[in-house]
Amino acid sequence: MQFSFACATDVGRLRPNNEDAVVVDPAIGLAVLADGMGGYRGGEVASRLCCETVQAELHVRLRQPRAEPRAALLAAVAQANQRIYEASQREPAWRGMGTTVVAALMDGVHLTVAHVGDSRLYRLRQGSLVALTRDHSLVQEQVQAGLISAQDARATPYRNLLTRAIGVGPAVQIDHAEHVVEPGDTYLLCSDGLHDLLTDTEIARCLCSTAPLERAAWALIDAANAAGGRDNIAVALIACWPDDR
Ligand code: CA
Repeated sequence: MQFSFACATDVGRLRPNNEDAVVVDPAIGLAVLADGMGGYRGGEVASRLCCETVQAELHVRLRQPRAEPRAALLAAVAQANQRIYEASQREPAWRGMGTTVVAALMDGVHLTVAHVGDSRLYRLRQGSLVALTRDHSLVQEQVQAGLISAQDARATPYRNLLTRAIGVGPAVQIDHAEHVVEPGDTYLLCSDGLHDLLTDTEIARCLCSTAPLERAAWALIDAANAAGGRDNIAVALIACWPDDR
């Protein structure tokens, strides 16, 4: 199988600065996206430090003998947590900064994903879009417990409150999974600035109707801005092609 990667981020239409960060690194099969929070530019620092640390750690860890993608990815995200937490302890203005993360590593057979917070991984397969991550947010926990409906969850004003984030404590619990990849799959990583504003149907329509991949990334951002653009928006895309195409 062959893969292509694309990413894009935009400040949106209401926020003064962009606290989302996104990196793709086809050489190691990596896409990583982070949505930062915290005053005095702390959100921007946290999300950028997260993406940079995960990328740099994986370059080292994947080169080691008998490197295993899942262990390498989890160690890289744990290292990002530690670096952001230490930076926030050193610099009073950054106290309490943190970030979400969703990181996906493609090895040709599996897509290994690690995530914390409400940035998501979706898979588009044969026209149908499925979320492969479950948000670490207060409303998502209430939906799981049957306290509110998924539809009400989309409308509550506190839907962005996280129950877990990177960098706010000395350690963090990281969710992870491995997904078997099929030719024709497209994977989307995105921040809540996208999935809060677009329905699954709208996201799928952008992905199905737009090629090449770089243009699809911007089509998603344009659609979120057209829907109000009330938050920063970041997306990363991984497309899988059969070898003989
Ligand atoms: Ca956000």
